Amino acid sequence: MRIIKQVATALIRPSLKTVPRIMSRGLQANRTHGVDKNVWVEFSQLAADYKTVNLGQGFPDFSPPKFVQDAFCKAICGGPAMHQYTRAFGHPPLVKSLAKFFSRVVGHDIDPFEDVLVTVGAYQALFSAFQALIEDGDEVIIIEPFFDCYQPMVKMAGGEPVYIPLRPKDSGSAVLSSGDWVLSPEELASKFTPRTKAIVINTPNNPLGKVYKREELQMIADLCIKHNVLCISDEVYEWLTYDTAKHVKIASLPGMWERTITIGSGGKTFSATGWKVGWAISSGHIIKHMKTIHQNTVYHCATAAQEAVAQGFEREHEAFGSPESYFQQLPATLSHKRDKLASCLASVGLKPIMPEGGYFMTADFSSLKVDYKKTTAEDEADDFRFVKWLIKEKGLATIPVSAFYSPEHRKDFEKYIRFCFVKEDSTLDAAMDILKKWSDGE
Ligand code: PMP
Ligand code: GLN
Repeated sequence: MRIIKQVATALIRPSLKTVPRIMSRGLQANRTHGVDKNVWVEFSQLAADYKTVNLGQGFPDFSPPKFVQDAFCKAICGGPAMHQYTRAFGHPPLVKSLAKFFSRVVGHDIDPFEDVLVTVGAYQALFSAFQALIEDGDEVIIIEPFFDCYQPMVKMAGGEPVYIPLRPKDSGSAVLSSGDWVLSPEELASKFTPRTKAIVINTPNNPLGKVYKREELQMIADLCIKHNVLCISDEVYEWLTYDTAKHVKIASLPGMWERTITIGSGGKTFSATGWKVGWAISSGHIIKHMKTIHQNTVYHCATAAQEAVAQGFEREHEAFGSPESYFQQLPATLSHKRDKLASCLASVGLKPIMPEGGYFMTADFSSLKVDYKKTTAEDEADDFRFVKWLIKEKGLATIPVSAFYSPEHRKDFEKYIRFCFVKEDSTLDAAMDILKKWSDGE
């Protein structure tokens, strides 16, 4: 009787190996097609597998400043509320601190509850912006090289990315600078069509370190206003500028506040990338639609981490412009690391492009005489092959720069790799040691 029952059940219920009927239509949703490769997933794993000196993925290998660590500890031990949900669109102390802090920087009165959305890192701010504002057939202009997630996010929202590369101009100077990488105003103007909904900019830029000058931003702003286009401005490295470079917020230019979404990251601001606290600041009529995406996806972000970032901004508001400010101290520390890395790269025959901001340095490896092609797959881009060789044979991890380009333009930029310098001096020294030994033929 039991056997008959089992057979009957098996006949009614398909076995696990049987493809359920719904899958005959195809398991995979269309939006996942063509966006399955991810440079961080691939290269972070390789860096770990080969126990490399890791100048690949962008994160500090030192602790955040003590005042935000203390604030986090205090929050964690601060009673039950810190361990429960807070306001969906941002913990009230955090949206208030962000509004207070950035009102001064943007020169516009920011409403903490209408104009700010707190997100799970800058990633989710970007995702919410694309989901809320882009629809099927909308074109989104992306400036290359670009932080890689812009492209899949635009596509997943149904949009069409339209690319324009920054091109290096010959400045005549022996030292290459990210400032020499520029947009052609005519080429950019030609990318705007009646279908253009938004342009994405990233300043300071990842991976080049370009810090857009006011005139460059004004040229972009003029086109946005002329064509009634939104501007998504990724400014996660806004405090990291070097020498005479100055970060300018495109939202602060006339006519831009009401069409710009400015995106920031607590992870980059306070050297705490694992906290994943980010934000979008814009006019309430834009933020309102991003809130719709947020409330139906993530709903709310970790309370204690938001509290710590709020305390960090309160402290920085007090210290603003003074030598005690972390926003002054971190770039001062990093500019030494940048200079040290640049001269080491140059000494081994890599040609660094000096970043004006951010914490990455791009270098041209095309004049090196190494046979990195012997041990790597032929069907891969040159920079991917070189980075894999460097990881596997020399124990040093970096990132291939063609990952920051569209398939259309990738081929022209396969001779660059990216180094991250937000690292302890001992890590940088270990990396430089590897490079020097290698160039000495060891
Ligand atoms: N934008 C840029 C340009 C980045 O480099 C990163 C990487 N941190 C992000 C956005 C995402 O930031 P978060 O870690 O805060 O999500
Ligand atoms: N933004 C960081 C970088 O450029 C890390 C991104 C990531 O790990 N997804 O290295």
